[in-house]
Amino acid sequence: DLIAAARDAGVGHAAAKTRSEPWPNDPYPAGSGIAERYVTLRALLAGDLDPDDLVSALQDSGLRGMGGAGFPTGQKWDLVRGAEGSVKYAICNADESEPGTFKDRQILATQPHLVLEGLLCGMAVVGAEEGWVFIRHEYGPEEHVLREELEALRAAGVVGPDACGSGRRLNVEIFVSPGGYILGEETALIECMEGHRGEPRNKPPFPGVYGLHGRPTLMNSVETFADLPVIAQRGAQWWKDQGRGDSVGWKFFAVSGHVEKPDVYCVPMGTTVRELIELAGGVSGGRAVGAVQPGGASSNFIGPELLDLELDFGTAAKAGTMLGSGALVVLAEGTDELAAATNVLRFFRNESCGKCVPCRVGSTKAHEILRGVLDEGVPLDGPRRARILELEEVLRKTSICGLGQVALGPVISVLGLDKGGAAARPQPKPEGAAGQPER
Ligand code: NAD
Ligand code: SF4
Repeated sequence: DLIAAARDAGVGHAAAKTRSEPWPNDPYPAGSGIAERYVTLRALLAGDLDPDDLVSALQDSGLRGMGGAGFPTGQKWDLVRGAEGSVKYAICNADESEPGTFKDRQILATQPHLVLEGLLCGMAVVGAEEGWVFIRHEYGPEEHVLREELEALRAAGVVGPDACGSGRRLNVEIFVSPGGYILGEETALIECMEGHRGEPRNKPPFPGVYGLHGRPTLMNSVETFADLPVIAQRGAQWWKDQGRGDSVGWKFFAVSGHVEKPDVYCVPMGTTVRELIELAGGVSGGRAVGAVQPGGASSNFIGPELLDLELDFGTAAKAGTMLGSGALVVLAEGTDELAAATNVLRFFRNESCGKCVPCRVGSTKAHEILRGVLDEGVPLDGPRRARILELEEVLRKTSICGLGQVALGPVISVLGLDKGGAAARPQPKPEGAAGQPER
Protein backbone atom coordinates (compact mmCIF):
# COMPACT_ATOMS: atom_id res chain seq x y z
CA ASP A 1 0.00 0.00 0.00
CA LEU A 2 2.77 2.37 0.90
CA ILE A 3 4.63 1.69 -2.30
CA ALA A 4 1.40 2.30 -4.21
CA ALA A 5 1.00 5.54 -2.27
CA ALA A 6 4.50 6.55 -3.23
CA ARG A 7 3.74 5.84 -6.84
CA ASP A 8 0.51 7.86 -6.62
CA ALA A 9 2.46 10.74 -5.08
CA GLY A 10 4.74 10.68 -8.10
CA VAL A 11 7.76 9.62 -6.12
CA GLY A 12 9.99 7.13 -7.84
CA HIS A 13 11.74 5.72 -4.81
CA ALA A 14 9.89 4.19 -1.94
CA ALA A 15 11.75 3.03 1.13
CA ALA A 16 8.40 2.49 2.78
CA LYS A 17 7.43 -1.12 3.15
CA THR A 18 4.56 -2.95 4.69
CA ARG A 19 4.83 -4.99 7.85
CA SER A 20 2.38 -7.64 8.94
CA GLU A 21 3.28 -7.24 12.63
CA PRO A 22 3.48 -3.95 14.54
CA TRP A 23 6.89 -2.89 15.81
CA PRO A 24 7.33 -3.64 19.53
CA ASN A 25 6.87 0.02 20.47
CA ASP A 26 3.31 -0.03 19.09
CA PRO A 27 0.60 -0.59 21.74
CA TYR A 28 -2.11 -0.98 19.10
CA PRO A 29 -2.98 -4.28 17.38
CA ALA A 30 -2.18 -4.56 13.69
CA GLY A 31 -4.96 -3.29 11.49
CA SER A 32 -6.57 -1.05 14.12
CA GLY A 33 -7.93 2.25 12.92
CA ILE A 34 -8.25 5.76 14.30
CA ALA A 35 -11.21 4.76 16.48
CA GLU A 36 -9.08 2.22 18.37
CA ARG A 37 -5.88 4.28 18.37
CA TYR A 38 -5.07 7.70 19.90
CA VAL A 39 -6.12 6.33 23.31
CA THR A 40 -3.65 8.46 25.27
CA LEU A 41 -4.58 11.63 23.44
CA ARG A 42 -8.28 11.03 24.05
CA ALA A 43 -7.64 10.37 27.73
CA LEU A 44 -5.65 13.61 28.05
CA LEU A 45 -8.30 15.69 26.29
CA ALA A 46 -11.14 14.11 28.26
CA GLY A 47 -9.39 14.89 31.53
CA ASP A 48 -9.00 11.18 32.36
CA LEU A 49 -5.21 11.43 32.25
CA ASP A 50 -3.50 14.19 34.20
CA PRO A 51 -0.78 15.86 32.06
CA ASP A 52 1.49 15.94 35.12
CA ASP A 53 1.11 12.17 35.48
CA LEU A 54 2.08 11.69 31.85
CA VAL A 55 5.17 13.86 32.30
CA SER A 56 6.04 11.90 35.45
CA ALA A 57 5.65 8.62 33.55
CA LEU A 58 8.00 9.94 30.86
CA GLN A 59 10.52 10.97 33.49
CA ASP A 60 10.27 7.62 35.29
CA SER A 61 10.62 5.69 32.03
CA GLY A 62 14.06 7.15 31.37
CA LEU A 63 13.15 7.87 27.73
CA ARG A 64 15.83 10.01 26.10
CA GLY A 65 15.82 11.99 22.87
CA MET A 66 16.34 9.57 19.99
CA GLY A 67 17.41 12.24 17.50
CA GLY A 68 20.94 11.65 18.73
CA ALA A 69 21.73 13.76 21.77
CA GLY A 70 19.76 11.73 24.31
CA PHE A 71 18.36 14.64 26.34
CA PRO A 72 15.83 13.30 28.92
CA THR A 73 12.41 13.59 27.26
CA GLY A 74 10.36 13.97 30.45
CA GLN A 75 12.62 16.82 31.56
CA LYS A 76 12.12 18.59 28.24
CA TRP A 77 8.33 18.21 28.39
CA ASP A 78 8.31 19.44 31.99
CA LEU A 79 10.43 22.43 31.04
CA VAL A 80 8.17 23.51 28.15
CA ARG A 81 5.03 22.84 30.17
CA GLY A 82 6.34 25.12 32.90
CA ALA A 83 7.73 27.79 30.57
CA GLU A 84 6.07 31.18 30.77
CA GLY A 85 3.90 32.28 27.87
CA SER A 86 0.36 31.87 26.64
CA VAL A 87 1.46 30.83 23.14
CA LYS A 88 3.57 27.71 22.73
CA TYR A 89 4.36 25.48 19.79
CA ALA A 90 5.35 21.88 19.16
CA ILE A 91 7.44 20.47 16.33
CA CYS A 92 8.30 16.95 15.31
CA ASN A 93 11.75 17.00 13.78
CA ALA A 94 11.51 14.60 10.83
CA ASP A 95 14.44 16.12 8.96
CA GLU A 96 16.49 12.95 9.33
CA SER A 97 19.62 13.50 7.26
CA GLU A 98 22.58 12.04 9.10
CA PRO A 99 24.41 9.77 6.63
CA GLY A 100 23.49 6.15 7.30
CA THR A 101 20.40 7.18 9.26
CA PHE A 102 17.06 6.02 7.89
CA LYS A 103 15.18 4.64 10.90
CA ASP A 104 12.80 7.61 11.24
CA ARG A 105 11.85 7.10 7.63
CA GLN A 106 10.71 3.59 8.46
CA ILE A 107 8.81 4.80 11.55
CA LEU A 108 7.04 7.52 9.57
CA ALA A 109 6.07 5.01 6.91
CA THR A 110 4.77 2.33 9.26
CA GLN A 111 3.78 4.19 12.43
CA PRO A 112 2.44 7.63 11.44
CA HIS A 113 -0.26 7.17 14.10
CA LEU A 114 2.34 6.91 16.88
CA VAL A 115 4.33 9.91 15.66
CA LEU A 116 1.21 12.06 15.42
CA GLU A 117 -0.22 10.81 18.72
CA GLY A 118 3.08 11.64 20.45
CA LEU A 119 3.14 15.10 18.90
CA LEU A 120 -0.53 15.77 19.72
CA CYS A 121 -0.06 14.58 23.32
CA GLY A 122 2.96 16.88 23.57
CA MET A 123 0.81 19.78 22.36
CA ALA A 124 -1.94 18.94 24.86
CA VAL A 125 0.57 18.68 27.72
CA VAL A 126 2.51 21.90 27.10
CA GLY A 127 -0.51 23.91 25.94
CA ALA A 128 0.27 24.33 22.26
CA GLU A 129 -2.50 24.77 19.72
CA GLU A 130 -0.21 24.64 16.68
CA GLY A 131 2.13 21.82 15.81
CA TRP A 132 4.20 20.86 12.80
CA VAL A 133 6.01 17.91 11.37
CA PHE A 134 9.13 19.34 9.73
CA ILE A 135 9.96 16.67 7.18
CA ARG A 136 12.96 16.12 4.94
CA HIS A 137 12.08 17.03 1.38
CA GLU A 138 13.28 13.71 -0.04
CA TYR A 139 10.82 11.80 2.17
CA GLY A 140 7.96 12.06 -0.35
CA PRO A 141 6.34 8.66 0.34
CA GLU A 142 6.46 9.23 4.07
CA GLU A 143 5.03 12.74 3.71
CA HIS A 144 2.20 11.21 1.72
CA VAL A 145 1.49 8.65 4.46
CA LEU A 146 1.51 11.41 7.10
CA ARG A 147 -0.83 13.61 5.09
CA GLU A 148 -3.28 10.73 4.69
CA GLU A 149 -3.24 10.06 8.43
CA LEU A 150 -3.72 13.75 9.19
CA GLU A 151 -6.65 14.01 6.78
CA ALA A 152 -8.26 11.01 8.45
CA LEU A 153 -7.70 12.60 11.88
CA ARG A 154 -9.32 15.83 10.74
CA ALA A 155 -12.27 13.94 9.27
CA ALA A 156 -12.68 12.04 12.55
CA GLY A 157 -12.53 15.27 14.57
CA VAL A 158 -9.44 14.14 16.48
CA VAL A 159 -7.53 17.14 15.14
CA GLY A 160 -9.13 20.51 14.57
CA PRO A 161 -10.88 23.38 16.35
CA ASP A 162 -12.64 21.03 18.77
CA ALA A 163 -10.19 18.14 19.11
CA CYS A 164 -12.03 14.99 20.25
CA GLY A 165 -14.94 17.20 21.37
CA SER A 166 -12.80 18.71 24.12
CA GLY A 167 -13.30 22.31 23.09
CA ARG A 168 -9.52 22.57 22.61
CA ARG A 169 -7.97 23.49 19.31
CA LEU A 170 -5.16 21.22 18.10
CA ASN A 171 -3.88 21.89 14.60
CA VAL A 172 -1.02 20.03 12.92
CA GLU A 173 0.57 20.97 9.61
CA ILE A 174 3.40 19.47 7.60
CA PHE A 175 6.34 21.73 6.79
CA VAL A 176 8.52 20.34 4.01
CA SER A 177 12.18 21.23 4.46
CA PRO A 178 13.59 23.24 1.57
CA GLY A 179 16.64 20.94 1.81
CA GLY A 180 20.01 20.96 3.53
CA TYR A 181 21.42 18.76 6.29
CA ILE A 182 21.90 21.66 8.70
CA LEU A 183 18.15 22.31 8.86
CA GLY A 184 17.86 19.19 11.03
CA GLU A 185 19.69 21.14 13.74
CA GLU A 186 16.80 22.36 15.85
CA THR A 187 17.57 26.08 15.86
CA ALA A 188 18.40 26.15 12.13
CA LEU A 189 15.07 24.41 11.60
CA ILE A 190 13.33 27.15 13.57
CA GLU A 191 15.14 29.88 11.64
CA CYS A 192 14.01 28.22 8.43
CA MET A 193 10.39 28.03 9.57
CA GLU A 194 10.55 31.71 10.42
CA GLY A 195 11.58 32.42 6.84
CA HIS A 196 15.22 33.14 7.60
CA ARG A 197 18.39 31.62 6.28
CA GLY A 198 18.76 28.19 7.89
CA GLU A 199 21.68 28.74 10.25
CA PRO A 200 21.93 27.45 13.84
CA ARG A 201 21.55 29.90 16.71
CA ASN A 202 23.77 30.01 19.72
CA LYS A 203 22.34 27.89 22.54
CA PRO A 204 21.21 28.65 25.23
CA PRO A 205 18.49 29.78 25.08
CA PHE A 206 17.15 26.39 24.08
CA PRO A 207 13.97 26.11 22.01
CA GLY A 208 12.13 24.85 25.08
CA VAL A 209 12.08 28.41 26.40
CA TYR A 210 12.84 30.47 23.27
CA GLY A 211 11.85 28.62 20.13
CA LEU A 212 9.69 29.34 17.11
CA HIS A 213 8.92 33.08 16.95
CA GLY A 214 10.53 33.38 20.37
CA ARG A 215 7.89 31.16 22.00
CA PRO A 216 8.51 28.05 24.13
CA THR A 217 8.62 25.19 21.66
CA LEU A 218 8.52 21.47 22.35
CA MET A 219 10.68 19.75 19.75
CA ASN A 220 11.33 16.03 19.64
CA SER A 221 12.38 13.70 16.89
CA VAL A 222 10.17 11.11 15.17
CA GLU A 223 11.29 8.12 17.22
CA THR A 224 10.97 9.98 20.52
CA PHE A 225 7.37 11.01 19.84
CA ALA A 226 6.56 7.52 18.55
CA ASP A 227 7.65 5.98 21.87
CA LEU A 228 5.22 8.08 23.90
CA PRO A 229 1.95 6.10 23.41
CA VAL A 230 3.39 2.77 24.51
CA ILE A 231 4.96 4.30 27.63
CA ALA A 232 1.69 6.04 28.49
CA GLN A 233 -0.33 2.86 28.06
CA ARG A 234 1.97 0.15 29.42
CA GLY A 235 3.70 2.28 32.02
CA ALA A 236 7.21 3.49 32.79
CA GLN A 237 8.22 0.18 34.41
CA TRP A 238 7.19 -1.82 31.34
CA TRP A 239 9.33 0.45 29.17
CA LYS A 240 12.30 0.09 31.50
CA ASP A 241 11.93 -3.68 31.51
CA GLN A 242 12.29 -3.85 27.73
CA GLY A 243 15.94 -2.79 27.85
CA ARG A 244 18.91 -5.06 28.53
CA GLY A 245 20.73 -4.73 31.84
CA ASP A 246 20.73 -1.11 32.94
CA SER A 247 19.36 0.08 29.60
CA VAL A 248 15.72 1.02 29.10
CA GLY A 249 13.23 0.56 26.28
CA TRP A 250 13.41 -0.23 22.61
CA LYS A 251 15.70 1.35 20.07
CA PHE A 252 15.44 1.58 16.30
CA PHE A 253 18.72 1.15 14.44
CA ALA A 254 19.47 1.62 10.77
CA VAL A 255 22.16 -0.92 9.90
CA SER A 256 24.07 -0.39 6.68
CA GLY A 257 27.47 -0.68 5.04
CA HIS A 258 29.07 -4.06 4.55
CA VAL A 259 26.25 -6.24 5.89
CA GLU A 260 24.14 -8.83 4.11
CA LYS A 261 20.76 -7.32 5.07
CA PRO A 262 20.94 -3.56 5.53
CA ASP A 263 17.65 -2.53 7.10
CA VAL A 264 15.94 -0.99 10.11
CA TYR A 265 15.89 -3.14 13.25
CA CYS A 266 14.04 -2.47 16.47
CA VAL A 267 15.89 -4.10 19.37
CA PRO A 268 16.13 -3.69 23.14
CA MET A 269 18.41 -0.84 24.14
CA GLY A 270 21.66 -2.42 25.28
CA THR A 271 21.85 -4.87 22.37
CA THR A 272 25.47 -5.34 21.35
CA VAL A 273 27.10 -4.24 18.11
CA ARG A 274 27.84 -7.88 17.33
CA GLU A 275 24.19 -8.91 17.77
CA LEU A 276 23.00 -6.12 15.49
CA ILE A 277 25.46 -7.13 12.80
CA GLU A 278 24.27 -10.73 13.13
CA LEU A 279 20.64 -9.56 12.82
CA ALA A 280 21.66 -7.84 9.62
CA GLY A 281 22.93 -11.14 8.24
CA GLY A 282 26.57 -10.66 9.20
CA VAL A 283 29.33 -8.91 7.32
CA SER A 284 28.83 -9.23 3.58
CA GLY A 285 30.84 -11.94 1.88
CA GLY A 286 31.57 -13.58 5.23
CA ARG A 287 34.38 -11.11 5.91
CA ALA A 288 35.52 -9.91 9.32
CA VAL A 289 34.57 -6.53 10.78
CA GLY A 290 37.14 -3.80 10.16
CA ALA A 291 35.46 -0.87 11.91
CA VAL A 292 31.99 0.30 12.91
CA GLN A 293 30.41 3.70 13.22
CA PRO A 294 27.69 3.00 15.78
CA GLY A 295 25.88 6.33 15.79
CA GLY A 296 25.85 7.75 12.30
CA ALA A 297 28.36 9.96 10.57
CA SER A 298 28.88 12.15 13.63
CA SER A 299 30.18 9.24 15.72
CA ASN A 300 33.72 8.01 16.07
CA PHE A 301 34.65 4.68 14.48
CA ILE A 302 35.28 1.80 16.85
CA GLY A 303 37.35 -1.28 16.11
CA PRO A 304 36.41 -4.99 16.19
CA GLU A 305 37.64 -5.25 19.77
CA LEU A 306 34.46 -3.39 20.78
CA LEU A 307 31.93 -5.68 19.06
CA ASP A 308 30.47 -6.63 22.44
CA LEU A 309 29.74 -3.01 23.28
CA GLU A 310 26.19 -2.74 24.62
CA LEU A 311 24.64 0.07 22.66
CA ASP A 312 23.29 2.84 24.87
CA PHE A 313 24.06 6.53 25.36
CA GLY A 314 26.37 6.09 28.36
CA THR A 315 28.18 2.95 27.25
CA ALA A 316 28.87 4.35 23.79
CA ALA A 317 30.25 7.56 25.30
CA LYS A 318 32.48 5.56 27.64
CA ALA A 319 33.83 3.65 24.64
CA GLY A 320 34.83 6.94 22.99
CA THR A 321 31.98 7.12 20.51
CA MET A 322 28.23 7.82 20.72
CA LEU A 323 24.86 6.21 20.19
CA GLY A 324 23.89 9.27 18.15
CA SER A 325 21.20 8.82 15.57
CA GLY A 326 21.13 5.02 15.83
CA ALA A 327 22.86 4.36 12.53
CA LEU A 328 25.28 1.47 12.60
CA VAL A 329 27.61 1.64 9.60
CA VAL A 330 29.80 -1.44 9.17
CA LEU A 331 33.09 -1.50 7.30
CA ALA A 332 34.50 -4.92 6.44
CA GLU A 333 38.13 -5.71 7.11
CA GLY A 334 40.30 -4.38 4.31
CA THR A 335 38.22 -1.26 3.70
CA ASP A 336 40.21 1.96 3.56
CA GLU A 337 39.00 3.47 6.81
CA LEU A 338 40.73 6.79 6.30
CA ALA A 339 39.01 7.16 2.93
CA ALA A 340 35.67 6.40 4.57
CA ALA A 341 36.29 8.94 7.35
CA THR A 342 37.46 11.51 4.79
CA ASN A 343 34.24 10.95 2.90
CA VAL A 344 32.33 11.77 6.09
CA LEU A 345 34.43 14.92 6.46
CA ARG A 346 33.66 15.85 2.86
CA PHE A 347 29.97 15.57 3.67
CA PHE A 348 30.31 17.92 6.65
CA ARG A 349 32.45 20.34 4.64
CA ASN A 350 29.78 20.46 1.96
CA GLU A 351 26.95 20.87 4.45
CA SER A 352 28.62 23.48 6.68
CA CYS A 353 26.35 26.52 6.69
CA GLY A 354 29.42 28.76 6.84
CA LYS A 355 28.38 30.78 9.85
CA CYS A 356 31.44 29.88 11.96
CA VAL A 357 34.85 30.47 10.41
CA PRO A 358 36.51 27.43 12.06
CA CYS A 359 33.90 25.06 10.67
CA ARG A 360 33.78 26.65 7.22
CA VAL A 361 37.51 27.05 6.71
CA GLY A 362 38.77 24.27 8.96
CA SER A 363 36.71 21.51 7.36
CA THR A 364 37.95 22.59 3.92
CA LYS A 365 41.56 22.75 5.07
CA ALA A 366 41.49 19.33 6.73
CA HIS A 367 39.79 17.82 3.71
CA GLU A 368 42.47 19.23 1.41
CA ILE A 369 45.22 17.65 3.52
CA LEU A 370 43.50 14.27 3.56
CA ARG A 371 42.71 14.30 -0.16
CA GLY A 372 46.39 14.97 -0.79
CA VAL A 373 47.23 11.90 1.27
CA LEU A 374 44.61 9.72 -0.38
CA ASP A 375 44.90 10.88 -3.99
CA GLU A 376 48.48 12.01 -4.40
CA GLY A 377 50.29 9.78 -1.94
CA VAL A 378 51.43 12.72 0.19
CA PRO A 379 52.76 11.16 3.43
CA LEU A 380 50.62 11.58 6.50
CA ASP A 381 53.69 12.64 8.44
CA GLY A 382 54.04 14.21 11.88
CA PRO A 383 53.33 17.82 10.87
CA ARG A 384 50.23 16.85 8.88
CA ARG A 385 48.92 14.69 11.72
CA ALA A 386 49.57 17.56 14.11
CA ARG A 387 47.68 19.94 11.82
CA ILE A 388 44.69 17.56 11.64
CA LEU A 389 44.70 17.25 15.42
CA GLU A 390 44.91 21.01 15.83
CA LEU A 391 42.05 21.60 13.41
CA GLU A 392 39.92 18.99 15.18
CA GLU A 393 40.45 20.71 18.53
CA VAL A 394 39.64 24.14 17.15
CA LEU A 395 36.50 22.92 15.40
CA ARG A 396 35.33 20.98 18.45
CA LYS A 397 35.87 23.88 20.83
CA THR A 398 34.75 26.85 18.76
CA SER A 399 31.97 25.70 16.41
CA ILE A 400 28.53 26.71 17.57
CA CYS A 401 26.69 23.58 16.46
CA GLY A 402 27.25 19.85 16.39
CA LEU A 403 28.25 19.74 12.74
CA GLY A 404 31.51 21.58 13.22
CA GLN A 405 32.10 20.05 16.64
CA VAL A 406 32.16 16.48 15.30
CA ALA A 407 33.30 16.98 11.69
CA LEU A 408 36.81 15.67 12.30
CA GLY A 409 36.01 13.15 15.03
CA PRO A 410 35.68 10.12 12.70
CA VAL A 411 39.01 10.97 11.01
CA ILE A 412 40.78 11.26 14.35
CA SER A 413 39.27 7.94 15.44
CA VAL A 414 40.51 5.97 12.41
CA LEU A 415 43.97 7.50 12.73
CA GLY A 416 44.08 6.36 16.33
CA LEU A 417 44.93 9.93 17.31
CA ASP A 418 42.16 10.01 19.90
CA LYS A 419 44.02 7.26 21.75
CA GLY A 420 47.23 9.23 21.71
CA GLY A 421 48.77 6.69 19.37
CA ALA A 422 49.75 6.88 15.78
CA ALA A 423 48.16 3.85 14.18
CA ALA A 424 49.52 3.06 10.76
CA ARG A 425 47.23 4.31 8.06
CA PRO A 426 45.38 1.33 6.53
CA GLN A 427 46.34 0.55 2.96
CA PRO A 428 43.89 1.96 0.41
CA LYS A 429 41.57 -0.56 -1.19
CA PRO A 430 39.01 0.21 -3.89
CA GLU A 431 36.17 -0.13 -1.40
CA GLY A 432 34.10 1.90 1.01
CA ALA A 433 34.33 5.59 0.29
CA ALA A 434 37.53 5.39 -1.70
CA GLY A 435 37.25 6.16 -5.35
CA GLN A 436 34.14 8.30 -5.06
CA PRO A 437 34.07 11.26 -7.39
CA GLU A 438 35.17 14.53 -5.81
CA ARG A 439 32.70 17.43 -5.72
P1 NAD B 1 22.05 19.24 22.18
O1 NAD B 1 22.72 18.44 23.23
O2 NAD B 1 22.40 20.66 22.01
O3 NAD B 1 20.48 19.21 22.47
C1 NAD B 1 19.72 18.05 22.57
C2 NAD B 1 18.30 18.45 22.91
O4 NAD B 1 18.20 18.78 24.28
C3 NAD B 1 17.82 19.70 22.17
O5 NAD B 1 16.47 19.56 21.87
C4 NAD B 1 18.06 20.82 23.16
O6 NAD B 1 17.17 21.89 22.97
C5 NAD B 1 17.79 20.11 24.46
N1 NAD B 1 18.58 20.66 25.58
C6 NAD B 1 19.90 20.45 25.81
N2 NAD B 1 20.28 21.08 26.93
C7 NAD B 1 19.18 21.70 27.43
C8 NAD B 1 18.93 22.49 28.56
N3 NAD B 1 19.89 22.79 29.43
N4 NAD B 1 17.68 22.94 28.75
C9 NAD B 1 16.71 22.62 27.88
N5 NAD B 1 16.86 21.87 26.78
C10 NAD B 1 18.10 21.41 26.56
O7 NAD B 1 22.25 18.42 20.84
P2 NAD B 1 21.80 18.75 19.35
O8 NAD B 1 22.81 19.65 18.71
O9 NAD B 1 20.36 19.18 19.32
O10 NAD B 1 21.89 17.33 18.69
C11 NAD B 1 23.13 16.71 18.46
C12 NAD B 1 22.90 15.29 18.05
O11 NAD B 1 22.12 15.22 16.90
C13 NAD B 1 24.18 14.55 17.72
O12 NAD B 1 24.53 13.80 18.84
C14 NAD B 1 23.83 13.69 16.54
O13 NAD B 1 23.85 12.33 16.88
C15 NAD B 1 22.42 14.04 16.23
N6 NAD B 1 22.16 14.21 14.80
C16 NAD B 1 21.11 13.52 14.29
C17 NAD B 1 20.81 13.64 12.96
C18 NAD B 1 19.67 12.83 12.38
O14 NAD B 1 19.49 12.84 11.16
N7 NAD B 1 18.90 12.16 13.22
C19 NAD B 1 21.54 14.50 12.15
C20 NAD B 1 22.60 15.20 12.72
C21 NAD B 1 22.91 15.06 14.05
FE1 SF4 C 1 27.25 26.40 10.52
FE2 SF4 C 1 29.39 24.80 10.94
FE3 SF4 C 1 28.93 26.85 12.55
FE4 SF4 C 1 27.29 24.73 12.59
S1 SF4 C 1 29.45 24.75 13.19
S2 SF4 C 1 26.71 26.88 12.63
S3 SF4 C 1 27.32 24.18 10.41
S4 SF4 C 1 29.42 26.94 10.34
